Amino acid sequence: MQEYGSNCFAVRGAIVYLTGDPFLETAETCLQYIEDGLLIIDAGKILSCGTAQKLLRSLPAAVPVQTYPHGIILPGFIDTHIHYVQTDMIGSYGEQLLDWLNTYTFPEELKFSDPFHCKNVAKRFMDQLLKSGTTTAMVFCAVYPESVNALFEEAQKINMRLIAGKVLMDRNAPEGLLDTVQSGYADSKRLIERWHGTGRLSYAITPRFAPTSSPEQLEAAGQLWKEHPTTYIQSHISENKKEVAWAASLFPERKNYLDIYHHYGLTGKQALYAHGVHLLEEEFQCCYDTGTSLAHCPTSNMFLGSGLFDVSAAKNKKRPVEVGLGTDVGAGTSFSMLVTLNEAYKTGQLRNVPLDAVKLLYLATLGGARALSLEDKIGTLEAGKEADFIVLNTHATSLMKERMERVTSIQEALFLLTVLGTEETVEATYVAGKLVYKKQF
Ligand SMILES: [Zn+2]
Repeated sequence: MQEYGSNCFAVRGAIVYLTGDPFLETAETCLQYIEDGLLIIDAGKILSCGTAQKLLRSLPAAVPVQTYPHGIILPGFIDTHIHYVQTDMIGSYGEQLLDWLNTYTFPEELKFSDPFHCKNVAKRFMDQLLKSGTTTAMVFCAVYPESVNALFEEAQKINMRLIAGKVLMDRNAPEGLLDTVQSGYADSKRLIERWHGTGRLSYAITPRFAPTSSPEQLEAAGQLWKEHPTTYIQSHISENKKEVAWAASLFPERKNYLDIYHHYGLTGKQALYAHGVHLLEEEFQCCYDTGTSLAHCPTSNMFLGSGLFDVSAAKNKKRPVEVGLGTDVGAGTSFSMLVTLNEAYKTGQLRNVPLDAVKLLYLATLGGARALSLEDKIGTLEAGKEADFIVLNTHATSLMKERMERVTSIQEALFLLTVLGTEETVEATYVAGKLVYKKQF
């Protein structure tokens, strides 16, 4: 007999999720689709997932069922790379990466020495995530510890699975934004002790990128990771050609960009690097050998003119690298993972390797979970997983409604959602089994 708790509830609609990697297997074997499905949630977890017809038979009448007539129920989106402290500078005109950092990013991040500012932006950032259907994110904060505290406090209020860390940066940035080898290490350690493993929160040791950390700081980051091996590493790599050349000039003894991080013990499972647009084959091989993951950030790569990340090369079957999707706000131009998938598709087209709907959905859900080594907890809708899920409305706009009437398969419907979808497509967001955002249609 199935036991049902007093807070048990169910949602009904089309259910879609992936159970495998469509870059390595056929789409058919990975894609799970239930046309009229029921998801039963109890105590923050998925109790069961199956056809409404079968599950409703044994569901007690007291368990409420929320029906979404035009809804597709999906795992919550996982944004593997985003900067909350850049929320207010999204859409700043011009410049490529290095000038953009100096002109916009550094002045913006200086504001986060003020805890009130941190709190204000953290709240608005969280609202944007939930509104966009993002239920887990890996987030860069500013150099100041209070910027991390503010974000984790907001995430804790709704028991969100969030990974974040204070930026480590001890050179090549304005004076007010720099830490030191010692203060960066000590501040990060204190934040780990306070937050890592509290509820669903995890800490990421966060060197901004190799050029803004001295060799000593990268070494200290590696040391800190050794002392706290369940934490994460997040940073940037090979985003822009000038940046790649700069990194090489600062670390001439290293054989390539990733080798800088590898040398300091910053590669491995639970290490995730954003961009990787200009990575060499030997760097992909090192990612594979060490279990290091990458974040594909297509709107940012387009916006800053960085280039076209070759996701198909990264996923080469001979040495497949785990890849998640990142909005990279504020260089990214949208919080919406649907909008980001649209750009991922176009990036593939420009490289002559278009991604089908199943691959796209994988990047935004299970692929992200695997890139973060969280696939045992999130990324699918199987029984036992944490109940982070969203509902997309296929009638969100008149154009989408009319076009949806002409699709003949779930793959076509999913693809259309990535092309026409925005944050306005999200009807409901559930985090740990609680409704945290709802849009009226
Ligand atoms: Zn970034």
